[in-house]
Amino acid sequence: MKKYDYLVVGAGLFGATFAYEAMKRGKSVLVIDRRNHIAGNIYTKEEDGINVHVYGAHIFHTSDKKIWEYMNQFAEFNNYINSPVAVYGDELYNLPFNMNTFSKMWNIKTPAEAKAKIAEQIKELNISDPQNLEEQALSLVGTDVYEKLIKGYTQKQWGRPCNELPAFIIKRLPLRFTYDNNYFNDRFQGIPMGGYTQIVEKMLQGADVVLSQDFFDMVGGVKNAPSAASGKLKDGTEVSWNKLLFTGQIDEFYDSSFGPLEYRSVRFETEKLDEENYQGNAVVNYTAADVPYTRIIEHKHFEFGTQPTTIISKEYSSEWKPGVEPYYPVNNDKNNAVYQKYADRAASENNVIFGGRLGQYKYYDMDKVVAAALEVVAEEF
Ligand code: UDP
Repeated sequence: MKKYDYLVVGAGLFGATFAYEAMKRGKSVLVIDRRNHIAGNIYTKEEDGINVHVYGAHIFHTSDKKIWEYMNQFAEFNNYINSPVAVYGDELYNLPFNMNTFSKMWNIKTPAEAKAKIAEQIKELNISDPQNLEEQALSLVGTDVYEKLIKGYTQKQWGRPCNELPAFIIKRLPLRFTYDNNYFNDRFQGIPMGGYTQIVEKMLQGADVVLSQDFFDMVGGVKNAPSAASGKLKDGTEVSWNKLLFTGQIDEFYDSSFGPLEYRSVRFETEKLDEENYQGNAVVNYTAADVPYTRIIEHKHFEFGTQPTTIISKEYSSEWKPGVEPYYPVNNDKNNAVYQKYADRAASENNVIFGGRLGQYKYYDMDKVVAAALEVVAEEF
């Protein structure tokens, strides 16, 4: 029987940050993952000299200098600034919503003209306290931008009408009356040169890592999960641990005892193209409802690649069901209420910690994942 201080379930950014910090403090850590690779959804894989973001575009951005410096221990970041464009039919607009977007939409030049246009479009709507994503979007940018750049995209991404989605989702995006196409307001931004996988690789140095290992298999079924302190790896090795960090789906951990939580999944159709530059930008969003994918990523542009060929991924959004990867929690009132029951149960555990997008059912960005993991570390040690 091999004994560990911690078993970390999930080799993604939360689990790896925790594992790194625990090892720094002399703790022994076993990390397992269901997938056959480390790094969770930030996993990148090199093909033809291009680092492919296998689970979708990941752009690191933060306003927290400590988190920025923390990440820079593990990789050098380039000066990539995310500036997606949106295609709607035969029209093309800059994102996020800014003076470039407005001037093209309305053939205007000044912030005052843009504000007047939006005010004119929303005056009859009388939205004083937006209750959902649709009201929030309309009250911020008016009907034209909502109809062309938000409505179709959001319904495709979330599979729900905009008036059934929480307002905070659209507040992730900056709205500016300057000619500035930076998708984020954060002070620090970039892509790790050489991809994300190396970061997690470095974080996990010194840990025992077992891939293609399901936690529930290891403990003899989901019913045993909450009380398990030992289990058997697929090669037959018996292991035990003092404490568990679980970064999988919290509802699955508790055998859906308070009902299932909803997640969105994403599927990618990736193609290698025998041309140097397919779309001229890393991210192009397709905002019309009748285009089946939400966006096309051209991976080389994250690192200013000059390879003779290119790799693109079309991103299709779908409801999560068992057997596919969960990506996004659907944080509407219904799911948040169900999650609260799991969170209350989780709070009563002495030897189990939950973390990450799936363990905490939270639409975390990468910097927030690292910050949350470091908070757990601060409480733990
Ligand atoms: N969004 C939109 N049109 C776009 C891009 C984003 O309406 O062209 C909305 C949509 O509701 C989306 C939200 O903004 O869910 C947040 O977008 P973000 O790019 O932050 O999503 P992520 O990259 O996390 O999938």
